[in-house]
Amino acid sequence: MPHNSIKSLFENSAEWIGKVVDVKGWVRSRRGNKYVQFVALNDGTSIKSLQIVFDLEKFNDEQLKGVTTGSAIHVRGLLVESQGKGQTIEVQAETLELYGTADPDTYPLQKKGHSLEFLREKAHLRPRTNTFAAVLRIRHALAYAIHKFFNDKGFYYFHTPLITASDAEGAGAQFQVTTLPLEDLPVDKEGNIDYSKDFFGKMASLTVSGQLEGELGATALGCIYTFGPTFRAENSNTPRHLSEFWMIEPEMAFYEIADNMDLAEEFIKYCITYALEHCKDDIEFLAEHFDKELPERLKFVVENEFIRLPYTEGVKILEESGKKFEFPVYWGVDLASEHERYLVEEHFKKPVILTDYPKEIKAFYMKLNDDGKTVRAMDVLFPKIGEIIGGSQREEDFDKLKNRMEELGLEGMDWYLDTRRYGSVPHSGFGLGFERLVLFVTGMQNIRDVIPFPRYPKNCEY
Ligand code: ATP
Ligand code: MN
Repeated sequence: MPHNSIKSLFENSAEWIGKVVDVKGWVRSRRGNKYVQFVALNDGTSIKSLQIVFDLEKFNDEQLKGVTTGSAIHVRGLLVESQGKGQTIEVQAETLELYGTADPDTYPLQKKGHSLEFLREKAHLRPRTNTFAAVLRIRHALAYAIHKFFNDKGFYYFHTPLITASDAEGAGAQFQVTTLPLEDLPVDKEGNIDYSKDFFGKMASLTVSGQLEGELGATALGCIYTFGPTFRAENSNTPRHLSEFWMIEPEMAFYEIADNMDLAEEFIKYCITYALEHCKDDIEFLAEHFDKELPERLKFVVENEFIRLPYTEGVKILEESGKKFEFPVYWGVDLASEHERYLVEEHFKKPVILTDYPKEIKAFYMKLNDDGKTVRAMDVLFPKIGEIIGGSQREEDFDKLKNRMEELGLEGMDWYLDTRRYGSVPHSGFGLGFERLVLFVTGMQNIRDVIPFPRYPKNCEY
């Protein structure tokens, strides 16, 4: 091993006390007096920084000159129990190697307590702050938990394309992918853009969902999941929308809507439990600095059964609530986040799975109920977030699906209809927005703060 990770030293301190260790990281802060200097060193492995003690009989000012906030150093020294309060262990420096200094006059992360807005402007450096490092470690843990959950259940990780020519995914506005010269577009006889000259010989876009291709996987492998980037060109300047986000889309052959709900609930509880068990220090840090109720809220979601409620009853509750909503609520309306959050936070005070939505506000592929008006959709609604999962049982009947697609004028998707033409089975699936899960588990307020390099309208830095 090249050096000791700070995380491992804290976790196994009994084993390391009294031994010489090598630590490498970035200086968070430095303070002291003319006899001794204390440096808080962080290497990204833990929310905890390790205290390094420089005895000024061994080190002179010149040697320590470059040891300022942000600079990178390697220290070798004895790990001892700390005398001071505030930390359990510290390193008595014997040698110092300076990798890169950080000029205190220009390094942007000088003082403590920068606002999240300020840090968003410095998104390229913010992983070096305690807050973002904590968020990013939790993000990693959740990604791992997701793969582990599905793998242990026998699901296959199925890779769906990011570039797609099916403009009928319908989940949102798409970003076009083209190599045509925009200043001199080729046109056909009618004066329309001639996409046969484009890179793929037709119009192509970035995917808004891997679901349709996922269904091809599920109707062959049984249970699959996707976990990849998704792109939506909506001008949604909200704290819950990104233009580029990651989505997890399981798709299961032979699952009906109730099985789908069971899976969604088990899945999300598993991920949160995993984070509670493996990211304790980071969650505690975020709770202390941003959101005191965070650990309680996470435990509450894990320990309580989600409410399952048809849309029609949900709308009735909203209508009878007497509450003044910004957007009107009536049967047939696509619920806004304020409606969803009212049901979850004020009425039930629990996560809610809303089912059986009017077919007009849901995607063409959802299974039509016997009433002919509603479809077997299921949205999982969470406190603080609103919709975290959207899913459904899929229409497996060839004729019904084909009719619905014709009604909506969807063309060029014969390949999708083949799943119903040959060996069609009942099947279901859902999409979880990864960043919405990270948002919930970290207690952060803005989705732009839970992805390293956020993309949103008018912003594409780095
Ligand atoms: P919303 O109504 O919140 O805009 P949606 O109904 O358009 O979401 P779906 O198409 O059902 O979303 O996508 C599945 C999941 O992907 C959502 O439940 C949500 O968690 C997530 N999601 C959707 N759009 C975005 C976005 N722009 N940024 C981040 N996550 C998103
Ligand atoms: Mn949805």
